[in-house]
Amino acid sequence: MSEQEHIETNKETLGFQTEVKQLLHLMIHSLYSNKEIFLRELISNASDAEDKLRFEALSNDALYENDGDLNIRLSFDEEAKTVTITDNGIGMTRDEVIANLGTIAKSGTADFLQNLTGDSQKDSQLIGQFGVGFYSAFIVADKVDVFTRKAGADKSEGVHWSSKGEGEFEIASVEREQRGTEIVLHLKEEEAEFANGWRLRSLVKKYSDHIAFPVIMKSEPMPAEEGKEPEEPKDETVNEATALWTMSKSEVKEEDYKAFYKHISHDFQDPLTWSHNRVEGKLEYTSLLYIPSKAPFDLYNREVPRGLKLYVQRVFIMDEAEQFLPLYLRFVKGVVDSKDLSLNVSREILQSDRTVESMKSALTKRVLDMLGKMAKNEPEKYQDFWNEFGQVIKEGLGEDFANKEKLSKLLRFASTHGDSTQNISLEDYVGRMKESQDKIYYVSAESYAAGISSPHMEIFRKKGIEVLVLSDRIDGWMISYLSDFEGKHLQDITKGELDLGEIEDEEDKKHKEEASKTYESLLNQIKELLKDKVEDVRVTNRLTDSPACLVAGAHDMDAQMKKIMEAAGQKVPETKPSFEINPEHPLVKQLNDEQNDDRFNDLTNVLFDQAVLAMGEQLKEPGAFVSRLNKLLLDLSK
Ligand code: ADP
Repeated sequence: MSEQEHIETNKETLGFQTEVKQLLHLMIHSLYSNKEIFLRELISNASDAEDKLRFEALSNDALYENDGDLNIRLSFDEEAKTVTITDNGIGMTRDEVIANLGTIAKSGTADFLQNLTGDSQKDSQLIGQFGVGFYSAFIVADKVDVFTRKAGADKSEGVHWSSKGEGEFEIASVEREQRGTEIVLHLKEEEAEFANGWRLRSLVKKYSDHIAFPVIMKSEPMPAEEGKEPEEPKDETVNEATALWTMSKSEVKEEDYKAFYKHISHDFQDPLTWSHNRVEGKLEYTSLLYIPSKAPFDLYNREVPRGLKLYVQRVFIMDEAEQFLPLYLRFVKGVVDSKDLSLNVSREILQSDRTVESMKSALTKRVLDMLGKMAKNEPEKYQDFWNEFGQVIKEGLGEDFANKEKLSKLLRFASTHGDSTQNISLEDYVGRMKESQDKIYYVSAESYAAGISSPHMEIFRKKGIEVLVLSDRIDGWMISYLSDFEGKHLQDITKGELDLGEIEDEEDKKHKEEASKTYESLLNQIKELLKDKVEDVRVTNRLTDSPACLVAGAHDMDAQMKKIMEAAGQKVPETKPSFEINPEHPLVKQLNDEQNDDRFNDLTNVLFDQAVLAMGEQLKEPGAFVSRLNKLLLDLSK
């Protein structure tokens, strides 16, 4: 650093945003066992800065300031216990420094931080998905200095940022000859081991080998040969510095793929799987797509920008190019490098470009095929995937009609065949269907437990017919887009008249017809009594243990969906269910014999309200139910 650069003007001390303070505190405590990642994070930032400069310079060559040799320099001082990372990339203005290194721009950060548990092991995983970036410097340093100047700005517009990571930072204007950013880490006493050439080299190799820019270090001093002067240390490129995706698959080791994933995603964990492809022909592009092993904290926020890193002929164009994959595949991370797009392509152009449209459909298929392959060959891994991302895959049913078939094979459900784990595919279900069964049955309920204890389940249990249990919020919406699978209709067991088709034996059918005749006048009496609440009253073939149940119309809205819409304040058309009674049940028989009008009225209403409760619904007049029930109980004890 020249003397001049020490002259600081406009010095200010500013406080970190609350979230930054919290993050710093948590990070320092929970990332202890991952501390070496600081280097990867800072080199990734440096590499992004080089990428951004190269992009900006496409339209303004002057930004290179006569130095087009983009690289990252890494140095250290063993005595002073410092490590310095210097790039000659885009740099930052004073305002950018304040915004970038004083706040966290990710929305939902405050909520995220609240969810951390204080258990350092769990938190380190969570923070990994959050991506700590620059702030990871404070895992190993107790003071960080940043010197930076924006490319193209006057050398008087340099900025010095300095902080001990304890709540505030200082910022001042300095002269800075060189464009780009220099980060000086003053290592904590106990982290002094990082100020070592071999240690740093091995970390660069491990984490940053295949970023696109050279990481340069001074060679280690060699012992001088006798009688000769020791050799001056030389510049050495310590990484491969070939962008990983441009290499041929056979050249790339598994470890390299994993390291590159961490570079682009800032994730600490290995990806679950990836797919690297070069496409030639009408369209020419290379893609490297990764499936993370954990869902990011803001997966369900559909507004957060995400997407692939877009390169055109190896030149970085933009981050988060969301036009290459549908929204429901927003968890996919990776790079796409096109030969067909123009270097000055913008987001607006991407939106309506035919080439992009074709690439999007090919990349979508690529991801779905990658998942399909995992589901087939590595079911346990796929299960992990489903547990993390299944809900988002479900969004695809309503968003991507072209891939409905592939998507429906990827779905996993909980069912009466297993437990509450969603691990049953529609193919599994169909494979287990009874010989004469022609439908796929499901129930949608608030929870798995509510689903399996639904009275509607009784006949299926008796007949040994498997029923899928749908209890995720999105399920009602999803299922409305999935009316059949491999020619089999998906049937909600709580809707419409139950037609068990061939499975129902003749005897059952006859029995039901006879009961309908026997109970004709009872049915009419109940109908009259409940006419404001129900559409129809009939004898059921669904129940074995319960006295009665409610059945929605075949085309009524899914009950769970209705609840969600109502909760969101939307008007939902009023529909009346049908009331089905079980002629075998002693309470129904008692009702049939009941002579006292009051008691008939009470018992009918109690049966109706019970059926409402059994559906997991709220009673309209809970007080009336309680007093009727108490009356009946008192009668009992008389
Ligand atoms: P992220 O990289 O995930 O955005 P960081 O906390 O690592 O988060 O960095 C915040 C921002 O600071 C970056 O988005 C970038 O704009 C800026 N930044 C960090 N390092 C550099 C650098 N070496 N050169 C230029 N800008 C940088």
